Amino acid sequence: MRLLIVGNGGRASALATKLSEDNRITKMYFAPGNATTEKLGENINETDIIALRDFAIKHKVDLTIVGPEAPLVEGIVDEFKKVDLKVFGPAKKAASLEGSKAFSKKFMKTYGIKTAQSVTFDSYAEAKEYLQKQKFPIVIKASGLAGGKGVVIAENLEDAEGTIHDFMIKRIFGDAGIQVIIEEFLQGFEASIIGVSNGEKIFPFIPAKDYKKVGNGDKGPNTGGMGSAAPSPEFTDEHQKDFVEHIMNPTVEGLKKEGLSFKGFIFFGLMVTKNGTYLLEYNMRLGDPETQVLLPLLENNLVDVIEDCLHGRELELKFKNKKAVCLVVCSGGYPQNHETGFEITGAEKVKNSTLLYAGADYRGDRVISTGGRVLNLVALGDTFEEARKKVYEDAVPVDFDYGFYRDDIAKF
Ligand code: ATP
Repeated sequence: MRLLIVGNGGRASALATKLSEDNRITKMYFAPGNATTEKLGENINETDIIALRDFAIKHKVDLTIVGPEAPLVEGIVDEFKKVDLKVFGPAKKAASLEGSKAFSKKFMKTYGIKTAQSVTFDSYAEAKEYLQKQKFPIVIKASGLAGGKGVVIAENLEDAEGTIHDFMIKRIFGDAGIQVIIEEFLQGFEASIIGVSNGEKIFPFIPAKDYKKVGNGDKGPNTGGMGSAAPSPEFTDEHQKDFVEHIMNPTVEGLKKEGLSFKGFIFFGLMVTKNGTYLLEYNMRLGDPETQVLLPLLENNLVDVIEDCLHGRELELKFKNKKAVCLVVCSGGYPQNHETGFEITGAEKVKNSTLLYAGADYRGDRVISTGGRVLNLVALGDTFEEARKKVYEDAVPVDFDYGFYRDDIAKF
């Protein structure tokens, strides 16, 4: 069996590691991949979706898995299906649940999905007028894809006005900020639930926790994720029940009614408040760095899970009774300006964790940093303390100039 995996972050490395356990797989291609995937398969340069489709035809790829949101929103699944290529992920229309927050908020409201109150604006003047009567903090979101930077929590009217001006007039995110969502601020803790859909039902994985802020104690700006832990000890059975009843089931219902049912991964970004579990957003793909802790805990064979979904079969997902921790090591300065191109040394000294490269590539036989989030260390343990100890001990010998990580991942 020949696989094509689109993506290059730690998530692609986690997929590659899980899939490499399956001896039915004879070849894995990664577009564009990284230093981990290069050792487990072959990295290719194609990024354009038509070029990827042609590559898949030429190289007789049996199954394609898409990691990041951009190709899904651009319609990679539609293009592959047109020529009968097997691909796991939502079509363009369903991917709009991630690609357009205006669309997803409308969907949530139509189907009674528990989410924060919000109003969508196309007009700067109307958004500005609306803000005059609001309480603060308030949340302002660019509707389109903004690489995880399109959400601002405005503490006062001045910040809020500045933000809508940046999004709608200055267009700092281009067309992604033409529409804005102004949303009620929810106070609580966050949880991530990834599920797989077989076109009929969604089967949820165990809940995970993502550490979004750059600094210890959740301080500083948001990032793509500084670490993760699963199963989230904060998310109780009661929260799960609330999620299934008020978020997951009505989502399945809505997808059917709108003709958006799909076979692929879905990610629910949740906020748990004293009033229960709320949906902040859908991502129509695996989360990063949640995937890095969920896949090592998943007992099922991943190709079987995907094949069962593609055939519309029922699933029985099983997870190890262990705790998983992922520590993300970043380039100095991330998430703001940061330099790359530094050699990473000490990988051979990692003992009790799995080292997954993210923004790192081989140059000859040296590994060089290429991105903000450079590598991940992932470990399992009977307790979070045990898994934490492994990743933090293994982080010490792994070195590159100005690299840093948070000290408090999975410290419960
Ligand atoms: P991601 O990069 O996770 O895909 P995104 O840019 O698509 O994010 P959201 O997930 O909607 O946007 O929001 C990003 C973060 O902003 C959330 O993880 C949460 O921390 C915060 N946030 C979003 N909506 C709210 C809200 N209503 N109340 C409080 N915080 C919020």
